[in-house]
Amino acid sequence: MIKKQEARGRRQEARSKTLHPASSILHPPSSILHPASSILPPAPFIVCDDLVKVYKTGEIETVALAGLDLEVQQGEVLAIIGPSGSGKSTLLNILGGLDQPTAGQVTVGEVDLLGLTPDGLMRYRRDVVGFVWQQNARNLLPYLTAFQNVQLPMQLRGVGPRERAARAHDLLEAVGVAERLAHRPGELSGGEQQRVAIAIALANGPGLLLADEPTGSVDSQTAGTIVDLFRSLAHQYGVTVVIVTHDASIAQHVDRTVAIYDGRTSFERVRRTAGNVVVGHDEYVIVDKTGRLQLPPELVERVGITRRARVHVAEDHLEIWPEAMNNGTMNNGTMNNGTMNNGTMNNEQ
Ligand code: ADP
Repeated sequence: MIKKQEARGRRQEARSKTLHPASSILHPPSSILHPASSILPPAPFIVCDDLVKVYKTGEIETVALAGLDLEVQQGEVLAIIGPSGSGKSTLLNILGGLDQPTAGQVTVGEVDLLGLTPDGLMRYRRDVVGFVWQQNARNLLPYLTAFQNVQLPMQLRGVGPRERAARAHDLLEAVGVAERLAHRPGELSGGEQQRVAIAIALANGPGLLLADEPTGSVDSQTAGTIVDLFRSLAHQYGVTVVIVTHDASIAQHVDRTVAIYDGRTSFERVRRTAGNVVVGHDEYVIVDKTGRLQLPPELVERVGITRRARVHVAEDHLEIWPEAMNNGTMNNGTMNNGTMNNGTMNNEQ
């Protein structure tokens, strides 16, 4: 733990020496975050530290994020999964500068999102972040062609007609719908609309692409190709991608999947590759600063852990066992004939 804090301290020190001043948040991603020395591990592009979000509705308080920690590297494609109500959209809104946390810290690139003025937040949303929403009506204007739709964000930012036409063309080609550029959204399939939406989100060269259920309205095969597209664009444009989804199969296509339960990160699934070939996934349970770990509910259920688990300390690892065993061992945390049952002693023969 101390080592982790020291490493983070060293990284932050290196960042403060090498990073551009706050005004550089308005520059495209190539200017964001390159560590000074190759000896240091690269500083994460996104850092969420003990993030708390409490919504107040009248007298009722809802804790949407309960001390969430997350780090994302530049250029990484991350999926956030979790059941409904676990805090995924809240996190996405905070990362996108659409909402502010109640407590904790969040930095994207060199930008401290809590330190931004309303004007700074507006520029952050315009210049640093690209959004892809689930509903295409929120991504695309129905009366503009794909080509015009992609040019619109650049037009609003004052980019000249020749430059924005060239970039719109490049982007539509990069997302694989260049031959559809004269079509309006109503003349495109769901998958094609999503591809145009991704081109729009990339129009102003964001460092961070946020996608909310981007595959929610397409079939599973198209969903896979869209997430593959996010990955290739991340590598091509150096953009970091965070995708919120309830679709666990997305994990096959992203670099890392982080599961959120009850407003905290719970476990991670990291793609293992040899060259360009996926050879498997490594699964991790996240341990927070106080040493707490949260096991995925399906694993807890599968091995029959209930209120408590037994921990075996081996030389170089820990084993977590359900209490349920007989003959001098435990059963659901309760003693039964010398063993425990549901946390209470039972001496009946
Ligand atoms: P998810 O995206 O994982 O479904 P959300 O981030 O939308 O979860 O919500 C997390 C919790 O916060 C839920 O209990 C939800 O009801 C609550 N919540 C979200 N937004 C608001 C809001 N604007 N006002 C009050 N409660 C909210």
